[in-house]
Amino acid sequence: MLVNAKDMLTKAKAGKYAVGQFNINNLEWTRAVLETAEELRSPVILGVSAGAGKYMTGFKTVAAMVDAMVDSLGITVPVALHLDHGTYEDCYKCIEAGFSSIMFDGSHYPIEENIAKTKELVAVCAEKNMSLEAEVGSIGGEEDGVIGAGECADPAECKMIADLGVTMLAAGIGNIHGVYPENWAGLSFETLDGIQQQTGDMPLVLHGGTGIPADMIKKAISLGVSKINVNTECQLSFAAAVREYIEAGKDLQGKGFDPRKLLAPGTAAIKATVKEKMELFGSVGKA
Ligand SMILES: [Zn+2]
Repeated sequence: MLVNAKDMLTKAKAGKYAVGQFNINNLEWTRAVLETAEELRSPVILGVSAGAGKYMTGFKTVAAMVDAMVDSLGITVPVALHLDHGTYEDCYKCIEAGFSSIMFDGSHYPIEENIAKTKELVAVCAEKNMSLEAEVGSIGGEEDGVIGAGECADPAECKMIADLGVTMLAAGIGNIHGVYPENWAGLSFETLDGIQQQTGDMPLVLHGGTGIPADMIKKAISLGVSKINVNTECQLSFAAAVREYIEAGKDLQGKGFDPRKLLAPGTAAIKATVKEKMELFGSVGKA
C-alpha cells in the first residue's frame, strides 16, 4: 500500500536524516528502487515527472503499476508515490490517478497566486490523505522545459507558504537540476539556515541531488533538509552499465539481446546508486 510522505518526513526531520526521492521512468527503475529500499529497510519516495508520466502512458498507468508492484514484491517499507514538479492541472490528474503525494510547483507564479493555488491544494490533499510539497524560489537547471536561474528563496516567503499547511517545502538554495557546472558556487547554507529558522519543523526538500558533494549533503541535512531528490544520477549509472554491456558485445552472445538480459546491468547499476544515496542520506534501517 502506498502511504503519504508526512510520517516518514516528520521522523526524518526529527532524526536528522533524509529520505530519498528517486525518480522512476519504467518498470526496471521502479523495481530497482523498491527492492533496494526493502533490502536496506529504508522509507522511500518514488518521484514521477510529467515527462516520465507521459512516457509511461499516463499517471494512471504509473499508479497502477507501482501499487501492484509494491504488493507483488512484498514491499513492507513505507513507499510514497509522488508527482515531481506538478503543474496545477497535473496535480489534479495525480490525485485522481491514486498517487499518495504531489508537488505543486507554483514557483513561476507571482507569490499571491502561488499561495492561492497552494491553499486550495492543501485542502484537497487533507481530504484525500495525501502529502503536498510546495516550492518557493525556482531551482536552477532544466526540469521538463522549466528553466530556473538557481536563485535563493526568500525565507519570509517560505514561511508564508509553510504556514498554509503544506507537508514539505522545496526552496532554492543555489541547487541545480541535472549535472552541476564546473563553476557552480555551491549550496547557500546561509539561505537554508534562514529558511529553517523561519519554518521550524517543516521538512525541507533539496532538489537536484545529483553531484552535490557528500559533505554539503550532510550539512544540508543538519540544517533541516529531510527529503533529497535524485534523478539524473540514476540515469547516468543506468546508461553507463548498459553501454558497457553492449560495448563488450554481450548482446551478440547467445540470447544476450533479450531485453531482460540487456537491461539487467542497468537495473543493477540503479540499485547500487540508490544504495549509495540511502547510506549517505542516513535513511538505512529507518523503516
Ligand atoms: Zn526538482
